[in-house]
Amino acid sequence: MRTGNKFGICKNCGRQIMWIRTKAGKNMPVNPQFVNYLEVKGGRERIVTDDGRVVAGEKCGPKESKDTGYISHFATCMKSRR
Ligand SMILES: [Zn+2]
Repeated sequence: MRTGNKFGICKNCGRQIMWIRTKAGKNMPVNPQFVNYLEVKGGRERIVTDDGRVVAGEKCGPKESKDTGYISHFATCMKSRR
């Protein structure tokens, strides 16, 4: 069953975002492009997986990674503000 439109527009920067429901039951805005990542303790990126887990990690190439996920939009949104 589809759960409605999961895409939206960020009010801060006007970019397209995608909503993922986390395990904690919160809707979290992420960038719609998925990335390859490695789960790393203390990693700089906040990555949200398809099934709603939020993990710390680092982006990497498709060969090194086991998983794909989405970068939390908050991080990139703040970076793009001037
Ligand atoms: Zn934004």
